[in-house]
Amino acid sequence: MAKCYARLVIYVKKVVMQKFLKLFRNKTALPTVPAYDPEIRQISDPERVMIPLDYPGRIHYLPTVKAGDSVRRGQVIGRSRLGNSTFASISGKVREIATTWTAQSVHSPAVVIENDGQEGLAPEEMFDDGPVALTNPLAALERIRSSGVNAPWTLSGRDYGSGDIATLPRLEAVIITGVQEEPTILTSQLLLEQQAEKVAEGLKRVRMLLPDADIWLTVPEELKSWAEERFSEFAKIAPLSQDYWSRIEREVVAKLLGRRIPNRESYISHGIIVQDIENILAMVDALDGISPFIQKCLTISGPAIDKAVTVRFPMGSSLKHVLGSQGLQISDYTRPVVGGPMKGIAQYSDLTPLTYNSGVYLIAEDLSPFDQIAPCIFCGRCTRVCPAKIQVHLINRMIEFGQFNSTHNLRPEACHECGLCAYVCPAERPIVQLLHFCNHEMTHGERYVWNEE
Ligand code: SF4
Ligand code: SF4
Repeated sequence: MAKCYARLVIYVKKVVMQKFLKLFRNKTALPTVPAYDPEIRQISDPERVMIPLDYPGRIHYLPTVKAGDSVRRGQVIGRSRLGNSTFASISGKVREIATTWTAQSVHSPAVVIENDGQEGLAPEEMFDDGPVALTNPLAALERIRSSGVNAPWTLSGRDYGSGDIATLPRLEAVIITGVQEEPTILTSQLLLEQQAEKVAEGLKRVRMLLPDADIWLTVPEELKSWAEERFSEFAKIAPLSQDYWSRIEREVVAKLLGRRIPNRESYISHGIIVQDIENILAMVDALDGISPFIQKCLTISGPAIDKAVTVRFPMGSSLKHVLGSQGLQISDYTRPVVGGPMKGIAQYSDLTPLTYNSGVYLIAEDLSPFDQIAPCIFCGRCTRVCPAKIQVHLINRMIEFGQFNSTHNLRPEACHECGLCAYVCPAERPIVQLLHFCNHEMTHGERYVWNEE
């Protein structure tokens, strides 16, 4: 018995010592822009696509096709209550309306189309009324919505009845992101550089449609003067550096507009819109009657990938098809993460359909076994790194022991879910998940409701 106890003490000491050694070994290195190939590679049509219809909190489409229908690329296959549309990204036969787990871990109905190799619809078949002039803002709005583009002044989903739209505050600021929050995702930066004229045209149209709003364009720091020369007539230029810290979206919004918007509140309820540059380019195509939004760009990166590559793929392609197009396969990696290293979501299947996703981050190294609640060693790294300046380790301990109401004075609702605390935690604790759980409970559970005070 005494021997067992002595062994246990030695084991515990060893574990504690390892944690401390790890703490000093692991200096925090935040993700930065990787080496990359600047070419955006067009990938071929897959044999089948699966187009999800449900994007909770944003949009819900009802299918306009049924199993057995033949569809052509560019044809509407789903429509929301407000007229937003989603499209067939390849031509083929609708095999079924199935359910799928999306890359955001949402269980959603989806239209499954099997490729029959037919041509897609021509622009004049998709847009029989041709280009839309901005002199008619209502027609422009209608065109943008019906082309699958989530433009700044459209409201998409089931969460907004027409009455609610009228009660929303006036749009005061539009922030267009020419750099992605996750530095490993290069789609916005490459589109900005390679389609500068079209970006300028998009900004000009946003300015015409929202003449009273402040318009910002974020750009990589090294492109500041280049961007000012081309875009400052239409937008204020906000240069951002290469590290994640400077790009956390809600921090960027706070810096530019002088207002902090809590994670659980939508930008639009504060008169603010944050839009990716790819949406602005898609808006130009829609208004000009060229194409609806049916292809998306995405960067594949990861520690074992020498040069990040960016591809353009038909929406609804599987992860397997997108990786396979670049000679990669999921079995060579321990975790495929859709998104980036900080906020991405690990996928369990390579059949997951990709739609509005901008990155895949492939992790190849061994992972430590998941420890449900690893003990906190009170090193304070999480709190030091937190941009929202909250006492992360204290809040976490309270949540762990179910003391949700005690967290109130420590403001867990200020958390952006940026992932920095978990990234630097030597104990690899599930910090963000605990905070997310706490905020979800407070907002949707029957516990303390933040808004009451
Ligand atoms: S995820 Fe962590 S570091 Fe980021 S804001 Fe929330 S508590 Fe702070
Ligand atoms: S939760 Fe925070 S204080 Fe605890 S071990 Fe992790 S980083 Fe250190």
